[in-house]
Amino acid sequence: MFPRIGLEVHVELNTKSKMFCPCPVGEWEEPNVAVCPICLAHPGSLPVPNRTAVIFAVSLGLALKGEISRVSHFYRKNYFYPDLPKGYQITQYSVPIVRNAWILGKRIERINLEEETAKSLHLEDGTVLLDFNRAGIPLLEIVFAPEISLPEEAKEVLRALQSAVRYLGISNADMEKGQFRVDVNVSISASRETFGTKVEIKNLNSFRAIADAIEYEIKRQSEIIMGGGKVVQETRMWNGKETEPMRTKETESDYRYFPEPDIPPLLVDESTIEEAKVLIKEMPWEKEERYISLGVPKNLAKIIAYDLELSQTFDSLRGVNPKRWAEYLVNVIVGRLNQKGKTLRDFDVWGFGKLLEKVEKGEILEEYLKVAVQKNIFEGVPFERLIEEAPKPVEIDLESLVDELVKNNPQQVEKYKKGQKGVVGFFVGQIMKDLRGKVDPKVVSDVVVKKLEES
Ligand code: ZN
Ligand code: MN
Repeated sequence: MFPRIGLEVHVELNTKSKMFCPCPVGEWEEPNVAVCPICLAHPGSLPVPNRTAVIFAVSLGLALKGEISRVSHFYRKNYFYPDLPKGYQITQYSVPIVRNAWILGKRIERINLEEETAKSLHLEDGTVLLDFNRAGIPLLEIVFAPEISLPEEAKEVLRALQSAVRYLGISNADMEKGQFRVDVNVSISASRETFGTKVEIKNLNSFRAIADAIEYEIKRQSEIIMGGGKVVQETRMWNGKETEPMRTKETESDYRYFPEPDIPPLLVDESTIEEAKVLIKEMPWEKEERYISLGVPKNLAKIIAYDLELSQTFDSLRGVNPKRWAEYLVNVIVGRLNQKGKTLRDFDVWGFGKLLEKVEKGEILEEYLKVAVQKNIFEGVPFERLIEEAPKPVEIDLESLVDELVKNNPQQVEKYKKGQKGVVGFFVGQIMKDLRGKVDPKVVSDVVVKKLEES
């Protein structure tokens, strides 16, 4: 049995104005303030495509090695819903602006440029309020080929996509704000060549929920099929534990797509391509590879590379050991900042860098780094002062320390001579008791073995 996972993502673009009108895009406290006859769908108003939105779509297409359509078309997708009073959404159909793009080896069939609907707010008494500030915000509809088979893979490509649009600067892609919305469908087929019955899953508002819901659905459908049953084509809702049938039974809608008569074919010319290219810098997966080649452990390289702010912070410090810097950044600094309710923007990276340099030169002990970060974040002590106050490493005469220890513990030495190599640990432990963080246990161990052999 072959599970097939299909993903469809809607990404809100952070252009200055809406897709087909000059209304500003932004966050408003008041509803229905960023509106005009075009996004309110008044009869006779004429939509004009937003050039920046086109550039943004092309930049994602190019960054994901997709085919850019030099000519594409807008269509009307007809359906009625209170948040769409004009009765249709302007989207793309026959020829999308981008086809066959790739992300982490997974194929994206098409990227459509379209418009956002209004936002509906359902009150407890059944009243529905509509806010048209959102209506007409440019959207990218990104449709993956149903070629993903593992829940974790789905999560990975979605994370990569979210990271990619942030890197390009074309969307904030905040899931909680609905700027990055994912629809998932799951089917199970008998062979790679055939297709099973698709089940759509709604209400997925985190990557964890997406992976969990897919996993649950694959299991549920497998059990039905193994039990000789048939999977019903339906829309189900994820409730945090399982998928359940949605009460509203969705009928197969006929959207009666037809070409939008008010907008001429969309042309992507050389200058649009050039402007789109400017937005493309090092992409997260490229960054990940670079970090790994610098010696950053794989898991840390991924964490840093896929987070725009983390990677910018990481890149801002050069000339220090990348592995150590990555470890402190992810495992110490970010954690402490979170505890204190702060972000990386509140952190003095440059000051920490100075301290790290001194550690690497051997002028300050590494164990002081954690103490310093703690004091800096929790007590606001500047790194400059922390560097001044840092205890200096002492010269340690390891050889004579071990000599003395060997002399004072004849029974342990006897044991060693009888073949109990484990007593090395005893001697190392004794030394480290006083010198933890000041000497390398590996070095101590070497000296201990040497002295025991000589004795
Ligand atoms: Zn408008
Ligand atoms: Mn759509």
